[in-house]
Amino acid sequence: MTTIQKTLKGLWSLIVGLKVTGKEFCKPWITVHYPRQEVTNLESYRGHIDLVPRPDEPKKPLCIVCKRCEEVCPSGCIRVEGHVPGEQTGEARQLLLISNVPLPNSAARDPICAADKTLRVLDGFTLNYNYCSLCGLCVQCCPVSSLTFSSDVYLAGGSRRDFEYDLLRRLKNRKIKV
Ligand code: SF4
Ligand code: SF4
Repeated sequence: MTTIQKTLKGLWSLIVGLKVTGKEFCKPWITVHYPRQEVTNLESYRGHIDLVPRPDEPKKPLCIVCKRCEEVCPSGCIRVEGHVPGEQTGEARQLLLISNVPLPNSAARDPICAADKTLRVLDGFTLNYNYCSLCGLCVQCCPVSSLTFSSDVYLAGGSRRDFEYDLLRRLKNRKIKV
């Protein structure tokens, strides 16, 4: 191949490359310029788990402290703490009685035993997101649908501790949409 042929071949290759670049350049963007822009279509995004608030009291979780999520989590990243108050209210008891979802791999709580119908108040709900595999078992097994996936996509931290979340505090600090 002569020098002229090599030059022409190189030029043709350049034109083909520029054609592809030009075509892609004119297409609508499918990415955003983070952090100046953020994506908004996060409805189906599966972020870390989060507590679902009560519809009547948005600062309180639906959680009935049955600890099923803690038990079922294969990574051991959930810690649930609660206490039994002196008095039970009819409303709370009703919430507990609808808990009839069998716990995977556990005969002890299937069907839910009488002890599980004791009213408990949630004192703490922590998630170590460093170990979460997002398997969703905790969300599935919650008898009162008190867990969901958050749409938190922009997570950053300087240490593992930054990914240990206090979900109860997070719920209490959440801004209420009006
Ligand atoms: S999604 Fe799976 S790994 Fe993550 S906290 Fe729930 S049960 Fe554990
Ligand atoms: S399974 Fe649901 S109700 Fe039970 S402790 Fe977990 S979040 Fe609370």
